[in-house]
Amino acid sequence: MRNNSIWESETFYRKRDIIIIGAGFTGLWTALSIREKFPQKTVLVTERASVPKGASTRNAGFACFGSLTEIIADSEKMGWGKTLELVRMRFEGLGKIQQYFQPDEIDFDLCGGYEILNDGTALEKIDDVNRRLRTITGLDQTYFLSPDKIAEFGLAHTKFLVENPLEGSLHSGKLLQKLIERCHDAGVEFLFGSEVVDIQETEESVKVLGKDFQIESHRLVIATNAFAPDLVPDLDLVPARGQILLTGPVENLKLKGTFHFDEGFYYFRNIGNRVLLGGARNMDFENEQTAELDTSGLIQNHLEIFLKEVILPAEIYGDRNFRILGRWSGIMAMGSEKAPIVERITERQICAVRLSGMGVALAPKIGEMVAEMV
Ligand SMILES: Cc1cc2nc3c(=O)[nH]c(=O)nc-3n(C[C@H](O)[C@H](O)[C@H](O)COP(=O)(O)OP(=O)(O)OC[C@H]3O[C@@H](n4cnc5c(N)ncnc54)[C@H](O)[C@@H]3O)c2cc1C
Repeated sequence: MRNNSIWESETFYRKRDIIIIGAGFTGLWTALSIREKFPQKTVLVTERASVPKGASTRNAGFACFGSLTEIIADSEKMGWGKTLELVRMRFEGLGKIQQYFQPDEIDFDLCGGYEILNDGTALEKIDDVNRRLRTITGLDQTYFLSPDKIAEFGLAHTKFLVENPLEGSLHSGKLLQKLIERCHDAGVEFLFGSEVVDIQETEESVKVLGKDFQIESHRLVIATNAFAPDLVPDLDLVPARGQILLTGPVENLKLKGTFHFDEGFYYFRNIGNRVLLGGARNMDFENEQTAELDTSGLIQNHLEIFLKEVILPAEIYGDRNFRILGRWSGIMAMGSEKAPIVERITERQICAVRLSGMGVALAPKIGEMVAEMV
């Protein structure tokens, strides 16, 4: 490694109070929360890529806090206490996003969240779930059936449509950009294109090392989500790739809102008159347990079939061939538990990772939690 000049050592690479690795939603909300709570503390965010290259810039832009079947499945797996705690965090996180940013700054649209169900089992529990969520959402009916909207949105192969009026969509890129602006305004510093490859901790400080830099700090927050195992061994965390396709403009598109199907394994929404569709990871779990940012023919093919059969069916849109204008993937972090890992892992290091599939809403609250811990 080359030696730093005195100018570099006293500016870009000087010691900070807190370094945060990763400029995704978690890293940025954390940086902001720390500066708000401790305005005198110096905070530096290091990001490996020229623009953040994690799930935050490659997701579907749902502003959601949980579909009916997902909440039921979570409650069966981890009990109602933990499930409701997570739902509350996400719900409050969405509230915080709306409090910090004007809707037109981030294309926030409370267009409604919907879930397609083709068997009625989950509906037997809808009253119970609504009752439990009442203290969080303030609504008697967070979830209710919207049969008329099946035709209104032009959906095929849909027996029941469950609506949640408190969910919506946003523009993840704009939210991330606005967050970076807010961080700049709050005095947070950034080093982009600076991958941390090693961490060394002593009694006096903790040091992050990149290929051509090393910087010391008093505290370190690791907010690299699915990529955390590169820096922190033995985490209960596996990468889970999510693939997406985006159509070109669809004339007379009926779809409007954010939609889930199959316990959240498929998700789709409109962006103006285009359709964004993602998921199908459950069709090839093994190969999608990867941190490689590719797309695969198998998953994209499943998505295309779903697009034609459910979202843009021939009986409504005719035999048109819809152009797919974009295909991409992003990497989520999953584990044996749904809850994120927000833990002090050594005297000076805190880990805030494993945000699974609803990190847009979770990250603002995780930022607050970490600010309490540093
Ligand atoms: C396809 C897809 C669709 C999704 N859809 C939604 C959705 O609609 N709504 C929702 O709420 N959630 C969604 N999610 C989940 C959500 O995007 C994530 O939970 C959230 O973005 C996680 O944010 P994060 O900041 O923790 O992680 P990330 O956004 O992954 O950020 C981690 C950052 O760390 C950086 N980094 C990694 N290693 C290093 C290193 N060694 N040194 C420096 N920097 C490093 C990465 O480049 C990255 O920028 C989706 C995820 C995917 C993949």
